[in-house]
This record gives sequence, C-alpha cells and structure tokens, in this order.
Amino acid sequence: MQLGKSFRILQKPSAEDVPASVTDFLVQLGGPAVIKLDGRDKRRCRFVVTLLHGNEPSGLKAIHQLLREDFEPEVDTYLAIVSVEAALTEPQFSNRYLPDQRDMNRLFAPPYSDAQAMLAAELLDIIRRVEPEAVIDLHNTSGDGPAFAVAVEEQPIHMDIAILFTHRLIITDIRLGALMESPGLGCPIVTIECGGAAQALSDTIARQGLKRFMTEAELARPMLPDSEKLAERDIYRHPVRMELKPAGRLCYAEEPCPGMDITLPLHLDRRNFGIVGPDSPLAWLSGQGIRNLRVVDAHGHDVIDEYFVSREGKLYPRTFLKLFMVTTNPSIAVSDCIFYAVKEVDHTHLQTTRRTLDSIDSGARD
Ligand SMILES: [Zn+2]
Repeated sequence: MQLGKSFRILQKPSAEDVPASVTDFLVQLGGPAVIKLDGRDKRRCRFVVTLLHGNEPSGLKAIHQLLREDFEPEVDTYLAIVSVEAALTEPQFSNRYLPDQRDMNRLFAPPYSDAQAMLAAELLDIIRRVEPEAVIDLHNTSGDGPAFAVAVEEQPIHMDIAILFTHRLIITDIRLGALMESPGLGCPIVTIECGGAAQALSDTIARQGLKRFMTEAELARPMLPDSEKLAERDIYRHPVRMELKPAGRLCYAEEPCPGMDITLPLHLDRRNFGIVGPDSPLAWLSGQGIRNLRVVDAHGHDVIDEYFVSREGKLYPRTFLKLFMVTTNPSIAVSDCIFYAVKEVDHTHLQTTRRTLDSIDSGARD
C-alpha cells in the first residue's frame, strides 16, 4: 500500500525485526512513518499519531513495546510516528522541533506552504483515506504533572476515549493549528497528554491507555448513571493561555532576576492541576507588573485583568484557577506559552473529587 509521499507506509514488522532500543527503532524507520497493524476485525480501523513533537517519547515507547510484543489489536490500527528526525537529533528526544523548522502541531491548517506543512497535510490525507472510527494523538507535557486529554468538541465519545488514559478532559476553543482541530476527518480526535516526558508514570499511562484503545471492541461506553459519571470525570472548559508579549523577557529562578519582566519558580510545574487562589503568589514581576504578559482567550482577546493581578512585585490569581501545561522550559514559555488556566467553578467540591481520583490514578498498573 502506498498512500504517502513523505510518510512511509509499512505493514507491521514481526516482533523479532523490531530493534530492542527505541532509538534504533527510529533509525530503522528513517523518517515519518505509518505502521499498519491488522486487527481481528478488518472492517474497521483506528488511528494513533505520536511524536509530532520530537521531545515527547511516551507514545513512541508504547508503540515500540507493543510491536515488540507482537500485539494484535481488535480492529485494524494505524500508528503514525512523525518527527523522527527531530527526535534523533542530538541530544536525542530534546528537540520539540528542529531549530530551522516550525512546531509540527501548529501546522494542521491551511496554507500548506512548505515541506513541513505539506507533511501535516499528507497525514490528514492518510487519515481521511483510511476513515478511522477515532484518532488519538499522544504527547507529553513539557513540565511534570498528571495526564490529561484535550478535545475541541464535547461529546460523550470524547470522554469515552479520554478515560482509557485519564479522567481529566479539557475542552478547548482555542485554535492553534493542532491536529485535533482538523475538521472533516469524520471521527472524534482526542489529544492525550500522558504527563511529563521525564516521568516514568507517563510511559505507563501511554502503554496502558494505548493497549485499551487497541483492545476495546467498542470505544463508545454504555451510558452510566449520572452519579457514576460525575465521580469519574473531571472536565475543564474554555482554557486561556498565559503568554509573554514579544517584547517581554522571562527567566526561571528561585529569586527575582533583575531585568526580567517575570521570574518563574523553577518548579512551577508543581502547580499543574492544583488549585491556585488569590492568596497564591505564582511568580515575581518587574516594576512593569503584568504589562509584558497577556492572557489570550479563544477570541484572541487579552483578558489578563480577569485572571491575574500584580501585587507587591508578584503575580497573583484574581480568582480560583486551575493551571495546566505549565512549562519549565524557557524556550517553550517564550515561543508558545507559559501555562494554560481555567477558572475553578466550585473549588471545594472538586478538591475532594480530585484527591479521590488522584489516588486511583497513582494506582495505575500494567
Ligand atoms: Zn506535544
């Protein structure tokens, strides 16, 4: 089968032909590839994308492991491994994308004007042709934190897919050119953030979740009583992005850095999915306060005054918020965003629910 121009389309290799190391496996692929696994039911298929970002290996490791196990999925399954070159460039698995390239997960929207964007268009084309019943896109966050899923639509099927990996689902109306935003694929698309790239638990979540995604006969779960649904789901809607303005300067340190508009604590990622309130200082600010920061909503408006305030040289939430995708990587903080935030609706109730669910999460096993 030859669908792609730049993607190699491969039939599943036999387990003994898959190198023992993930790096050797990528070298063997040599570039963007889609691997097809035959399922027990060949009338349907599912699609898995991973390594859109070269520094986010949990999904790749999960795929590598399943291939080594000769895993047979329930339905035909396509596994797309994208930024092979970025991942293999030294230091390996540290480049989100190559210095002369663009963020691959910002290119899934026209115009498809260069080779990299053409690769995104080609991946969409492959997905459209095989008509999967669902697409998942496996990532890691750039800071540490628990796993969560993201979708642009809120239908039961999105939560049904997310729950194979995590009980946290974010419904975003921000449009960045990510794969999950692509219209016209005719099936649900869910992004899974498996947790930080350096956390062993992220690899476990990716592997267990992917196995479930490939094992379930039906992805849509039967309707549950409302109480059960509430207990197992944590849905966040309408996130906003905290960004540095182009003229702004930031750094990460344990005390305020002179000349910086904002100094972020080195372990700001510990705030991921924790609740922060008006009494939680998040970072140090210069005399300019929040002037070189902005909080962007789905309409592209700066709504920073609704969310944050500068007080005594520090950044405080104006209300109860939940932060996620908190990065501790300065280049990502500058070029993409520092973190996302959602307003916490009922923080006491959710705190209790979250504690219960987090203890379930940390019990994740193979
Ligand atoms: Zn990513």
